[in-house]
Amino acid sequence: MTDHIDRAQLADADRTGRIIEAHQNRARPHGDGICCDCDEAIPTSRLAAEPGAERCIECQTLYERKEATRVGFHR
Ligand SMILES: [Zn+2]
Repeated sequence: MTDHIDRAQLADADRTGRIIEAHQNRARPHGDGICCDCDEAIPTSRLAAEPGAERCIECQTLYERKEATRVGFHR
């Protein structure tokens, strides 16, 4: 019985590990001019305004909106 649970937990841990690994493989050095969310080139005007920007304007807006919603729910 417990064997079944252990295996489920192991499988879950394995899956989580793989997702983290995938993210790490995807990670690029900051400021390479490519959006880390959509892989599109970040406009040079944005890079000039914010050197090391990791996201294009669209993805950054979405990201900030998502973060604001997440944080906002605490209050
Ligand atoms: Zn983007």
